[in-house]
Amino acid sequence: MDDQERTERTARGHRIAESLAERDVNAVAVTFVDTSGIARVKGVPTGAFERAAGWGVGATPVFDAFGADDSIASTPVANPAGDLRLLPDLDRVVPLAAQPGWAWAPADRLTQDGAAHPGCTRQLASRMVDRMAEHGLTARSAFEVEWIVYAGGNPDDPVPAVAGPAYGMTRLIEVSDYTVDLLRALAGQGVDVLQLHPEYSPGQFELSVAAESPVAAADTAVLVRTTIRAVAARHGLAVSFAPAVFPGGVGNGGHLHLSFARDGRNLFAGGDRRFGLTEDAEAFMAGVLARLPALLAVGAPSVASYLRLLPSHWAGTFACWGLENREAAVRLVTGSVGEHDTAANVEVKCIDQSANPYLLTAAVLAAGLAGLEERAVLPEPVQQDPAALSEGERVERGVTRLPTALADSLAAFAAEPTLTGAFGPELTETLLAVRQAEIDKFAGASPEKIIAATRWRY
Ligand code: GLU
Ligand code: MG
Repeated sequence: MDDQERTERTARGHRIAESLAERDVNAVAVTFVDTSGIARVKGVPTGAFERAAGWGVGATPVFDAFGADDSIASTPVANPAGDLRLLPDLDRVVPLAAQPGWAWAPADRLTQDGAAHPGCTRQLASRMVDRMAEHGLTARSAFEVEWIVYAGGNPDDPVPAVAGPAYGMTRLIEVSDYTVDLLRALAGQGVDVLQLHPEYSPGQFELSVAAESPVAAADTAVLVRTTIRAVAARHGLAVSFAPAVFPGGVGNGGHLHLSFARDGRNLFAGGDRRFGLTEDAEAFMAGVLARLPALLAVGAPSVASYLRLLPSHWAGTFACWGLENREAAVRLVTGSVGEHDTAANVEVKCIDQSANPYLLTAAVLAAGLAGLEERAVLPEPVQQDPAALSEGERVERGVTRLPTALADSLAAFAAEPTLTGAFGPELTETLLAVRQAEIDKFAGASPEKIIAATRWRY
Protein backbone atom coordinates (compact mmCIF):
# COMPACT_ATOMS: atom_id res chain seq x y z
CA MET A 1 0.00 0.00 0.00
CA ASP A 2 1.44 3.39 -0.94
CA ASP A 3 0.97 6.77 0.77
CA GLN A 4 -1.72 7.94 -1.61
CA GLU A 5 -3.74 4.77 -1.09
CA ARG A 6 -3.38 5.15 2.66
CA THR A 7 -4.57 8.76 2.51
CA GLU A 8 -7.59 7.76 0.42
CA ARG A 9 -8.44 4.84 2.69
CA THR A 10 -8.17 7.04 5.76
CA ALA A 11 -10.55 9.59 4.24
CA ARG A 12 -12.99 6.83 3.30
CA GLY A 13 -12.67 5.27 6.73
CA HIS A 14 -13.61 8.64 8.22
CA ARG A 15 -16.77 8.87 6.09
CA ILE A 16 -17.71 5.27 6.86
CA ALA A 17 -17.22 5.84 10.59
CA GLU A 18 -19.48 8.88 10.43
CA SER A 19 -22.24 7.02 8.68
CA LEU A 20 -21.90 4.06 11.06
CA ALA A 21 -22.18 6.41 14.05
CA GLU A 22 -25.36 7.87 12.53
CA ARG A 23 -26.75 4.35 12.46
CA ASP A 24 -25.88 3.81 16.14
CA VAL A 25 -23.02 1.47 15.33
CA ASN A 26 -20.39 1.57 18.07
CA ALA A 27 -17.79 -0.85 16.79
CA VAL A 28 -16.67 -2.86 13.77
CA ALA A 29 -15.78 -6.55 14.04
CA VAL A 30 -12.86 -7.07 11.64
CA THR A 31 -12.44 -10.74 10.78
CA PHE A 32 -10.05 -13.04 8.99
CA VAL A 33 -10.12 -16.84 8.80
CA ASP A 34 -7.16 -18.85 10.03
CA THR A 35 -5.57 -21.98 8.59
CA SER A 36 -7.84 -24.23 10.62
CA GLY A 37 -11.02 -22.54 9.39
CA ILE A 38 -11.84 -20.47 12.44
CA ALA A 39 -12.93 -16.84 11.91
CA ARG A 40 -10.86 -14.73 14.30
CA VAL A 41 -11.75 -11.15 15.11
CA LYS A 42 -10.53 -7.78 16.34
CA GLY A 43 -13.15 -5.25 17.39
CA VAL A 44 -12.53 -1.61 16.54
CA PRO A 45 -14.62 1.18 18.12
CA THR A 46 -16.23 3.32 15.42
CA GLY A 47 -14.12 6.28 16.56
CA ALA A 48 -10.96 4.31 15.80
CA PHE A 49 -12.16 3.00 12.46
CA GLU A 50 -10.63 5.82 10.43
CA ARG A 51 -7.18 4.86 11.68
CA ALA A 52 -7.90 1.16 11.17
CA ALA A 53 -8.93 1.88 7.58
CA GLY A 54 -5.61 3.56 6.85
CA TRP A 55 -3.18 1.63 9.00
CA GLY A 56 -4.92 -1.62 9.75
CA VAL A 57 -5.37 -3.32 13.10
CA GLY A 58 -2.50 -5.19 14.72
CA ALA A 59 -2.60 -8.98 14.73
CA THR A 60 0.08 -11.53 15.51
CA PRO A 61 1.33 -13.84 12.74
CA VAL A 62 1.04 -16.66 15.30
CA PHE A 63 -2.65 -16.91 14.39
CA ASP A 64 -1.51 -18.76 11.27
CA ALA A 65 -0.39 -21.66 13.44
CA PHE A 66 -3.60 -21.87 15.46
CA GLY A 67 -5.56 -25.09 15.46
CA ALA A 68 -9.33 -25.19 15.78
CA ASP A 69 -8.79 -25.94 19.48
CA ASP A 70 -6.58 -22.82 19.88
CA SER A 71 -3.45 -24.90 20.34
CA ILE A 72 -0.46 -23.49 18.49
CA ALA A 73 1.38 -25.77 16.10
CA SER A 74 5.11 -25.76 16.22
CA THR A 75 6.26 -24.07 13.02
CA PRO A 76 8.74 -21.28 12.29
CA VAL A 77 5.88 -18.99 11.20
CA ALA A 78 4.45 -19.09 14.72
CA ASN A 79 6.94 -16.46 15.78
CA PRO A 80 5.72 -14.38 18.70
CA ALA A 81 7.86 -11.50 17.45
CA GLY A 82 6.48 -9.37 14.63
CA ASP A 83 3.09 -7.95 13.77
CA LEU A 84 0.63 -7.96 10.90
CA ARG A 85 -2.01 -5.42 9.95
CA LEU A 86 -5.62 -6.46 9.41
CA LEU A 87 -6.88 -4.15 6.69
CA PRO A 88 -10.69 -4.06 6.58
CA ASP A 89 -12.29 -4.20 3.14
CA LEU A 90 -14.03 -0.83 3.04
CA ASP A 91 -16.44 -1.99 0.34
CA ARG A 92 -17.77 -4.70 2.60
CA VAL A 93 -18.45 -2.88 5.90
CA VAL A 94 -22.00 -3.67 7.01
CA PRO A 95 -23.97 -3.14 10.23
CA LEU A 96 -24.94 -6.47 11.80
CA ALA A 97 -28.68 -6.88 12.25
CA ALA A 98 -28.42 -9.45 15.04
CA GLN A 99 -25.60 -7.71 16.90
CA PRO A 100 -26.97 -4.20 17.44
CA GLY A 101 -24.17 -1.68 17.77
CA TRP A 102 -21.77 -3.81 15.73
CA ALA A 103 -20.77 -3.72 12.11
CA TRP A 104 -18.55 -6.25 10.34
CA ALA A 105 -15.81 -6.12 7.74
CA PRO A 106 -13.58 -8.89 6.37
CA ALA A 107 -9.88 -8.12 6.32
CA ASP A 108 -6.78 -8.70 4.27
CA ARG A 109 -3.61 -9.25 6.23
CA LEU A 110 -0.60 -7.12 5.36
CA THR A 111 2.91 -6.94 6.74
CA GLN A 112 4.01 -3.75 8.47
CA ASP A 113 5.71 -2.81 5.17
CA GLY A 114 2.30 -2.80 3.52
CA ALA A 115 2.97 -5.94 1.47
CA ALA A 116 0.63 -8.93 1.27
CA HIS A 117 1.30 -11.36 4.14
CA PRO A 118 2.21 -14.72 2.54
CA GLY A 119 -0.29 -16.41 4.87
CA CYS A 120 -3.19 -14.14 3.85
CA THR A 121 -5.67 -16.55 2.33
CA ARG A 122 -8.06 -13.79 1.23
CA GLN A 123 -5.40 -12.18 -0.96
CA LEU A 124 -4.36 -15.61 -2.22
CA ALA A 125 -7.94 -16.21 -3.40
CA SER A 126 -7.88 -12.81 -5.02
CA ARG A 127 -4.66 -13.66 -6.88
CA MET A 128 -6.27 -16.86 -8.20
CA VAL A 129 -9.24 -14.82 -9.44
CA ASP A 130 -6.70 -12.60 -11.25
CA ARG A 131 -5.13 -15.69 -12.81
CA MET A 132 -8.55 -16.70 -14.11
CA ALA A 133 -8.82 -13.19 -15.58
CA GLU A 134 -5.51 -13.73 -17.40
CA HIS A 135 -7.35 -16.50 -19.27
CA GLY A 136 -10.17 -14.09 -20.00
CA LEU A 137 -12.38 -15.83 -17.43
CA THR A 138 -14.63 -14.20 -14.84
CA ALA A 139 -15.44 -16.62 -12.05
CA ARG A 140 -18.50 -16.59 -9.81
CA SER A 141 -19.12 -18.81 -6.83
CA ALA A 142 -21.28 -19.44 -3.79
CA PHE A 143 -21.03 -21.56 -0.66
CA GLU A 144 -23.95 -23.60 0.63
CA VAL A 145 -24.28 -23.44 4.39
CA GLU A 146 -25.66 -26.31 6.49
CA TRP A 147 -26.05 -26.17 10.25
CA ILE A 148 -27.73 -27.84 13.19
CA VAL A 149 -29.96 -25.80 15.50
CA TYR A 150 -29.85 -26.91 19.12
CA ALA A 151 -32.19 -25.95 21.93
CA GLY A 152 -29.45 -26.20 24.50
CA GLY A 153 -29.21 -28.91 27.13
CA ASN A 154 -26.01 -30.73 27.98
CA PRO A 155 -23.30 -29.33 25.67
CA ASP A 156 -21.89 -32.84 25.30
CA ASP A 157 -25.26 -34.23 24.27
CA PRO A 158 -27.27 -31.27 22.96
CA VAL A 159 -30.90 -31.52 21.96
CA PRO A 160 -31.89 -30.45 18.43
CA ALA A 161 -34.28 -27.48 18.55
CA VAL A 162 -36.74 -29.17 16.21
CA ALA A 163 -38.27 -32.63 16.16
CA GLY A 164 -40.05 -32.46 12.80
CA PRO A 165 -39.08 -34.58 9.82
CA ALA A 166 -36.24 -33.85 7.38
CA TYR A 167 -37.33 -31.23 4.83
CA GLY A 168 -40.59 -31.08 6.78
CA MET A 169 -42.85 -28.07 7.10
CA THR A 170 -43.30 -29.08 10.74
CA ARG A 171 -39.65 -28.41 11.33
CA LEU A 172 -39.88 -24.95 9.81
CA ILE A 173 -42.92 -24.11 11.96
CA GLU A 174 -40.99 -25.09 15.07
CA VAL A 175 -38.43 -22.35 14.45
CA SER A 176 -40.54 -20.00 12.36
CA ASP A 177 -39.55 -16.84 14.25
CA TYR A 178 -35.87 -17.76 14.23
CA THR A 179 -35.73 -18.54 10.53
CA VAL A 180 -37.68 -15.48 9.43
CA ASP A 181 -35.53 -13.26 11.66
CA LEU A 182 -32.52 -14.83 10.01
CA LEU A 183 -33.81 -14.08 6.52
CA ARG A 184 -34.62 -10.50 7.54
CA ALA A 185 -31.17 -10.05 9.04
CA LEU A 186 -29.42 -11.39 5.95
CA ALA A 187 -31.53 -9.29 3.59
CA GLY A 188 -30.76 -6.22 5.72
CA GLN A 189 -27.06 -7.01 5.38
CA GLY A 190 -27.28 -7.21 1.59
CA VAL A 191 -26.99 -11.00 1.36
CA ASP A 192 -28.92 -12.38 -1.59
CA VAL A 193 -30.49 -15.55 -0.15
CA LEU A 194 -31.95 -17.98 -2.67
CA GLN A 195 -33.51 -20.49 -0.30
CA LEU A 196 -33.63 -21.88 3.21
CA HIS A 197 -34.84 -25.39 4.05
CA PRO A 198 -34.82 -28.03 6.78
CA GLU A 199 -32.15 -30.60 5.87
CA TYR A 200 -31.76 -34.31 6.54
CA SER A 201 -30.03 -34.57 9.91
CA PRO A 202 -31.90 -33.96 13.19
CA GLY A 203 -32.09 -30.19 13.73
CA GLN A 204 -30.40 -29.44 10.42
CA PHE A 205 -31.09 -26.53 8.06
CA GLU A 206 -29.52 -25.30 4.85
CA LEU A 207 -29.30 -21.90 3.25
CA SER A 208 -28.07 -21.04 -0.22
CA VAL A 209 -27.07 -17.68 -1.60
CA ALA A 210 -26.60 -16.20 -5.06
CA ALA A 211 -23.26 -16.53 -6.83
CA GLU A 212 -20.89 -13.58 -6.76
CA SER A 213 -17.23 -12.86 -7.35
CA PRO A 214 -15.23 -15.59 -5.50
CA VAL A 215 -13.63 -13.47 -2.78
CA ALA A 216 -16.98 -11.82 -2.10
CA ALA A 217 -18.55 -15.29 -1.94
CA ALA A 218 -16.05 -16.38 0.70
CA ASP A 219 -16.73 -13.16 2.63
CA THR A 220 -20.44 -13.92 2.37
CA ALA A 221 -19.86 -17.42 3.76
CA VAL A 222 -18.29 -15.84 6.85
CA LEU A 223 -21.07 -13.27 7.17
CA VAL A 224 -23.85 -15.82 6.70
CA ARG A 225 -22.47 -18.14 9.38
CA THR A 226 -21.89 -15.24 11.75
CA THR A 227 -25.46 -14.09 11.22
CA ILE A 228 -26.95 -17.58 11.64
CA ARG A 229 -25.13 -17.88 14.95
CA ALA A 230 -26.01 -14.40 16.18
CA VAL A 231 -29.72 -14.63 15.30
CA ALA A 232 -29.84 -18.06 16.98
CA ALA A 233 -28.27 -16.65 20.13
CA ARG A 234 -31.00 -13.99 20.32
CA HIS A 235 -33.55 -16.81 20.20
CA GLY A 236 -31.81 -18.79 22.93
CA LEU A 237 -30.60 -21.36 20.40
CA ALA A 238 -27.12 -22.71 19.72
CA VAL A 239 -25.79 -23.75 16.31
CA SER A 240 -23.09 -26.01 14.94
CA PHE A 241 -21.55 -25.97 11.47
CA ALA A 242 -19.23 -28.87 12.39
CA PRO A 243 -18.67 -31.52 9.72
CA ALA A 244 -19.88 -34.35 11.93
CA VAL A 245 -22.54 -34.11 14.60
CA PHE A 246 -23.27 -37.74 15.42
CA PRO A 247 -21.36 -40.90 14.54
CA GLY A 248 -22.53 -42.47 11.30
CA GLY A 249 -24.93 -39.61 10.57
CA VAL A 250 -25.31 -37.10 7.77
CA GLY A 251 -23.12 -34.15 8.62
CA ASN A 252 -22.86 -30.49 7.67
CA GLY A 253 -21.41 -30.00 4.20
CA GLY A 254 -20.15 -26.71 2.83
CA HIS A 255 -20.45 -27.31 -0.88
CA LEU A 256 -18.86 -24.82 -3.26
CA HIS A 257 -20.64 -23.87 -6.49
CA LEU A 258 -18.55 -22.27 -9.19
CA SER A 259 -18.89 -21.15 -12.78
CA PHE A 260 -17.02 -18.82 -15.07
CA ALA A 261 -17.77 -16.76 -18.12
CA ARG A 262 -15.85 -15.38 -21.06
CA ASP A 263 -17.18 -12.16 -22.58
CA GLY A 264 -20.26 -12.53 -20.40
CA ARG A 265 -21.05 -16.06 -21.59
CA ASN A 266 -21.24 -18.86 -18.99
CA LEU A 267 -18.88 -21.59 -20.17
CA PHE A 268 -20.74 -24.32 -18.28
CA ALA A 269 -23.57 -24.17 -20.81
CA GLY A 270 -24.04 -24.06 -24.56
CA GLY A 271 -20.80 -25.92 -25.36
CA ASP A 272 -20.23 -28.95 -27.58
CA ARG A 273 -19.04 -31.30 -24.83
CA ARG A 274 -21.20 -33.58 -22.68
CA PHE A 275 -24.24 -31.91 -21.13
CA GLY A 276 -23.42 -28.64 -22.89
CA LEU A 277 -20.03 -28.12 -21.26
CA THR A 278 -17.47 -26.08 -23.17
CA GLU A 279 -13.91 -27.30 -23.56
CA ASP A 280 -12.76 -24.77 -20.94
CA ALA A 281 -15.36 -25.81 -18.38
CA GLU A 282 -14.55 -29.48 -18.94
CA ALA A 283 -10.81 -28.85 -18.56
CA PHE A 284 -11.38 -26.90 -15.36
CA MET A 285 -13.60 -29.61 -13.89
CA ALA A 286 -11.08 -32.29 -14.88
CA GLY A 287 -8.33 -30.32 -13.16
CA VAL A 288 -10.37 -30.23 -9.95
CA LEU A 289 -11.41 -33.88 -10.20
CA ALA A 290 -7.82 -35.07 -10.64
CA ARG A 291 -6.71 -33.18 -7.52
CA LEU A 292 -9.52 -34.01 -5.11
CA PRO A 293 -7.40 -36.05 -2.67
CA ALA A 294 -5.04 -33.09 -2.24
CA LEU A 295 -7.93 -30.61 -2.19
CA LEU A 296 -9.41 -32.45 0.77
CA ALA A 297 -6.50 -31.24 2.92
CA VAL A 298 -8.01 -27.80 2.36
CA GLY A 299 -11.72 -28.59 1.96
CA ALA A 300 -12.05 -31.38 4.54
CA PRO A 301 -9.30 -30.11 6.82
CA SER A 302 -10.31 -31.48 10.20
CA VAL A 303 -10.15 -34.97 11.60
CA ALA A 304 -13.92 -34.65 12.06
CA SER A 305 -14.34 -34.07 8.31
CA TYR A 306 -13.69 -37.77 7.73
CA LEU A 307 -16.55 -38.77 10.01
CA ARG A 308 -18.82 -36.91 7.58
CA LEU A 309 -17.27 -38.37 4.43
CA LEU A 310 -19.30 -41.58 4.41
CA PRO A 311 -20.47 -43.20 1.16
CA SER A 312 -24.19 -42.83 0.40
CA HIS A 313 -24.48 -39.83 2.76
CA TRP A 314 -24.58 -37.15 -0.02
CA ALA A 315 -21.10 -36.08 0.94
CA GLY A 316 -19.44 -37.05 -2.37
CA THR A 317 -16.85 -39.54 -1.21
CA PHE A 318 -15.83 -40.94 -4.59
CA ALA A 319 -13.60 -39.15 -7.07
CA CYS A 320 -15.99 -39.00 -9.99
CA TRP A 321 -18.33 -36.52 -11.61
CA GLY A 322 -21.91 -36.71 -12.78
CA LEU A 323 -24.81 -34.65 -14.00
CA GLU A 324 -26.86 -33.68 -10.95
CA ASN A 325 -25.39 -36.69 -9.11
CA ARG A 326 -25.46 -35.94 -5.37
CA GLU A 327 -23.10 -38.81 -4.62
CA ALA A 328 -20.39 -37.64 -7.02
CA ALA A 329 -17.71 -35.46 -5.44
CA VAL A 330 -17.99 -33.19 -8.48
CA ARG A 331 -21.53 -32.51 -9.56
CA LEU A 332 -22.46 -30.70 -12.74
CA VAL A 333 -25.57 -28.59 -12.20
CA THR A 334 -27.20 -27.41 -15.41
CA GLY A 335 -30.48 -26.01 -14.11
CA SER A 336 -33.69 -26.26 -16.08
CA VAL A 337 -34.14 -25.92 -19.80
CA GLY A 338 -34.25 -22.22 -20.55
CA GLU A 339 -31.96 -21.12 -17.73
CA HIS A 340 -28.79 -23.09 -18.48
CA ASP A 341 -26.83 -20.00 -19.37
CA THR A 342 -27.39 -18.40 -15.98
CA ALA A 343 -27.71 -21.51 -13.82
CA ALA A 344 -25.09 -24.02 -15.01
CA ASN A 345 -22.19 -24.49 -12.60
CA VAL A 346 -19.98 -27.09 -11.00
CA GLU A 347 -20.49 -28.08 -7.38
CA VAL A 348 -17.69 -29.54 -5.27
CA LYS A 349 -19.44 -31.63 -2.63
CA CYS A 350 -16.74 -33.41 -0.65
CA ILE A 351 -15.95 -30.31 1.41
CA ASP A 352 -17.24 -28.91 4.67
CA GLN A 353 -17.28 -25.79 6.78
CA SER A 354 -14.21 -26.54 8.81
CA ALA A 355 -12.49 -25.28 5.64
CA ASN A 356 -11.23 -21.73 5.37
CA PRO A 357 -13.49 -20.50 2.52
CA TYR A 358 -10.79 -18.23 1.09
CA LEU A 359 -8.17 -20.96 1.06
CA LEU A 360 -10.65 -23.42 -0.42
CA THR A 361 -11.61 -20.95 -3.15
CA ALA A 362 -7.93 -20.43 -3.95
CA ALA A 363 -7.27 -24.18 -4.00
CA VAL A 364 -10.21 -25.04 -6.26
CA LEU A 365 -9.31 -22.22 -8.65
CA ALA A 366 -5.65 -23.34 -8.69
CA ALA A 367 -6.68 -26.94 -9.44
CA GLY A 368 -9.12 -25.82 -12.14
CA LEU A 369 -6.55 -23.48 -13.69
CA ALA A 370 -4.08 -26.38 -13.86
CA GLY A 371 -6.76 -28.38 -15.69
CA LEU A 372 -7.30 -25.48 -18.10
CA GLU A 373 -3.59 -25.18 -18.77
CA GLU A 374 -3.26 -28.96 -19.33
CA ARG A 375 -6.43 -29.00 -21.51
CA ALA A 376 -7.51 -31.89 -19.28
CA VAL A 377 -10.49 -34.04 -20.26
CA LEU A 378 -13.10 -35.65 -18.06
CA PRO A 379 -13.63 -39.39 -17.80
CA GLU A 380 -17.13 -40.81 -18.35
CA PRO A 381 -19.67 -39.36 -15.94
CA VAL A 382 -21.15 -41.51 -13.19
CA GLN A 383 -24.93 -41.31 -13.05
CA GLN A 384 -25.61 -43.49 -10.03
CA ASP A 385 -24.34 -43.87 -6.48
CA PRO A 386 -20.70 -44.91 -7.00
CA ALA A 387 -20.94 -46.93 -3.78
CA ALA A 388 -23.45 -49.16 -5.60
CA LEU A 389 -20.91 -50.06 -8.30
CA SER A 390 -18.88 -53.20 -7.77
CA GLU A 391 -15.21 -52.76 -6.94
CA GLY A 392 -14.39 -54.11 -10.43
CA GLU A 393 -16.70 -51.58 -12.11
CA ARG A 394 -15.14 -48.76 -10.14
CA VAL A 395 -11.63 -49.84 -11.16
CA GLU A 396 -12.72 -50.10 -14.79
CA ARG A 397 -14.24 -46.63 -14.71
CA GLY A 398 -11.40 -45.04 -12.76
CA VAL A 399 -13.65 -44.18 -9.82
CA THR A 400 -11.65 -44.12 -6.59
CA ARG A 401 -12.64 -43.58 -2.99
CA LEU A 402 -11.37 -40.27 -1.68
CA PRO A 403 -9.08 -40.28 1.38
CA THR A 404 -10.74 -41.64 4.48
CA ALA A 405 -8.40 -39.89 6.90
CA LEU A 406 -6.84 -36.45 7.12
CA ALA A 407 -3.34 -37.95 7.07
CA ASP A 408 -3.98 -39.34 3.56
CA SER A 409 -5.30 -36.01 2.25
CA LEU A 410 -2.34 -34.25 3.78
CA ALA A 411 0.12 -36.59 2.05
CA ALA A 412 -1.70 -36.00 -1.25
CA PHE A 413 -1.53 -32.24 -0.68
CA ALA A 414 2.19 -32.32 0.09
CA ALA A 415 2.74 -34.18 -3.19
CA GLU A 416 0.56 -31.85 -5.32
CA PRO A 417 2.74 -29.08 -6.79
CA THR A 418 -0.26 -27.25 -8.22
CA LEU A 419 -1.52 -26.52 -4.72
CA THR A 420 1.76 -26.16 -2.87
CA GLY A 421 3.04 -23.95 -5.70
CA ALA A 422 -0.03 -21.71 -5.57
CA PHE A 423 0.07 -21.49 -1.78
CA GLY A 424 3.81 -20.79 -1.56
CA PRO A 425 6.29 -22.31 0.90
CA GLU A 426 5.21 -20.42 4.02
CA LEU A 427 1.52 -21.18 3.75
CA THR A 428 2.21 -24.76 2.70
CA GLU A 429 4.45 -25.33 5.70
CA THR A 430 1.89 -23.77 8.01
CA LEU A 431 -0.95 -25.86 6.64
CA LEU A 432 1.04 -29.07 6.99
CA ALA A 433 2.00 -28.22 10.58
CA VAL A 434 -1.51 -27.22 11.67
CA ARG A 435 -3.11 -30.30 10.13
CA GLN A 436 -0.43 -32.63 11.54
CA ALA A 437 -1.01 -31.17 15.01
CA GLU A 438 -4.70 -31.97 14.71
CA ILE A 439 -3.97 -35.50 13.50
CA ASP A 440 -1.66 -36.03 16.48
CA LYS A 441 -4.20 -34.60 18.90
CA PHE A 442 -6.91 -37.02 17.82
CA ALA A 443 -4.71 -40.10 17.29
CA GLY A 444 -6.73 -43.09 18.50
CA ALA A 445 -9.74 -40.95 19.56
CA SER A 446 -13.23 -42.39 19.14
CA PRO A 447 -15.73 -40.72 16.77
CA GLU A 448 -17.74 -39.64 19.85
CA LYS A 449 -14.72 -37.92 21.31
CA ILE A 450 -13.81 -36.19 18.05
CA ILE A 451 -17.39 -34.97 17.60
CA ALA A 452 -17.64 -33.72 21.17
CA ALA A 453 -14.34 -31.85 20.81
CA THR A 454 -15.28 -30.18 17.51
CA ARG A 455 -19.06 -29.63 17.64
CA TRP A 456 -18.84 -26.17 19.20
CA ARG A 457 -15.64 -25.06 17.46
CA TYR A 458 -17.32 -24.54 14.08
N1 GLU B 1 -25.45 -32.81 4.36
C1 GLU B 1 -24.82 -33.32 3.16
C2 GLU B 1 -23.31 -33.17 3.30
O1 GLU B 1 -22.78 -33.53 4.28
C3 GLU B 1 -25.31 -32.63 1.93
C4 GLU B 1 -26.77 -32.73 1.65
C5 GLU B 1 -27.11 -32.03 0.34
O2 GLU B 1 -26.95 -32.62 -0.71
O3 GLU B 1 -27.41 -30.85 0.39
O4 GLU B 1 -22.64 -32.67 2.46
MG1 MG C 1 -27.74 -29.78 1.74
